[in-house]
Amino acid sequence: MNHPESYRGRKVVVLGLARSGVSVAKVFHALGADVVVNDKKERELCPEADELTALGISVLCGYHPDDLVTEQTALLVKNPGIPYSADPIRRAEELGVEVVTEVEVAYWLSPAPIIGITGSNGKTTTTTWIGELLKAAGTNPIIAGNIGTPLCEAALVASAEDWIVAELSSFQLKGTSAFRPKVALLLNIAETHLDYHGGMEDYVASKEKLFANQSSDDVAVLNWDDPVCRGIAARVKGSVLPFSLYERLEQGVCVEPPFAKNADAESAAVAREIVWRREDGTETAILPVDELGIPGRHNAANALAAIAACLSAGSDPQALAAALRGFRGVEHRLEYAAEVNGVKYYNDSKATNPIATTMSVGSLSAPIVLIAGGLDRGSDYMELLPLFRDRLKGLVVLGETRAKLAAVAELAGLESVRMVEPVEDAESTLREAVRQAALLAELGDIVLLSPACASWDMFESYEQRGRIFKDSAHTL
Ligand code: ADP
Repeated sequence: MNHPESYRGRKVVVLGLARSGVSVAKVFHALGADVVVNDKKERELCPEADELTALGISVLCGYHPDDLVTEQTALLVKNPGIPYSADPIRRAEELGVEVVTEVEVAYWLSPAPIIGITGSNGKTTTTTWIGELLKAAGTNPIIAGNIGTPLCEAALVASAEDWIVAELSSFQLKGTSAFRPKVALLLNIAETHLDYHGGMEDYVASKEKLFANQSSDDVAVLNWDDPVCRGIAARVKGSVLPFSLYERLEQGVCVEPPFAKNADAESAAVAREIVWRREDGTETAILPVDELGIPGRHNAANALAAIAACLSAGSDPQALAAALRGFRGVEHRLEYAAEVNGVKYYNDSKATNPIATTMSVGSLSAPIVLIAGGLDRGSDYMELLPLFRDRLKGLVVLGETRAKLAAVAELAGLESVRMVEPVEDAESTLREAVRQAALLAELGDIVLLSPACASWDMFESYEQRGRIFKDSAHTL
């Protein structure tokens, strides 16, 4: 591992601006490296460049110069979203220049231990929840990574007594080499981002890098209910702390009695307790599942993961109950938005894949009119068929995937389906979708925006989509 100091006087290329690029460029500039920042976007689309040029850092926008990466380049720090096929990255690889993401640099810098959280779904919820739990247990968490503050910024302000709680995407992890979280947490693995990774193997391998440098002093928190996570357990070097909703674990964080995998075999009347069972057979009851602050089986899994992470960071189990009860979730994740004419509106704009939508629909008990659709990543959405058949009262589809989703609904025999064709702009189209959903819904029903698709075919972000949805519901 290289300390960033070792780059003093050497050329460091930062590829891609955005907050993490700015943060890493400032770090290396302050350490006396010769920093060049490059972004393919035109200069007027890179407002962050001003701050860097004011510091005397060279920023090149609008193209990738041919001589950006040379034999003199000591390091290339890439924005996680830039594909490895981009010219400067290929050039760096040809020349043997190390290519990393900002997360790796943050690890080099950080005096604080890191809890690293990854998975296909539930990262932000679990990361935020861990932050609340650690605070309640008297530790100072610094929340960073994919969730807002770049990890480098967190690393610069952290002390050895803090914990950095880092939400990490597979894109960020793919660009790590020495990164070693003290506590590494893998929530679940679903088929997402396969366009970037080119296949499941590369996606899982990127997630698995979270564990690559751990030793027996570190903890690997793994979802025992997910076959891929469980498979990874045999390969990790950290000590494994499993969590499960469905199995009575000999050691780990689980539910007592466990949930039945087949929901029909479950009795709703049973009181279930979250327990931490240690290797020596002793156990501590943490909280009844029913008392968790946010609904849904998936959020119970997120709670188990968050508890396991906090226990691994040394939290007192007795200190966790209040923050487990008091947590109200994160905006755009099954967020209660409004009640209009006896119909409740929920904003789940962050559900950008079919599994997330399935989880959210399954968390709600009233009849549901679902608003779905968005960016087409090439899937046929057939996995939504049982959900459409068994759980929906109505469906309103919009965006690039509208026809595909309508076709699945037809196969599912769902009758109340409305397809919203694009009108003058994305906002008006979504407002029309909300109006159509309101017409399908009756007293006591739920209208749920849970698109199963990313937002970029129509919106800047899922946040923009969620805000427009909430505003449409309020102004119906
Ligand atoms: P991420 O940060 O991984 O995208 P979020 O916490 O933002 O995850 O949640 C996004 C959506 O994913 C939620 O709205 C919910 O529908 C779904 N979700 C959350 N946790 C889980 C989980 N553990 N398993 C499956 N789906 C989940």
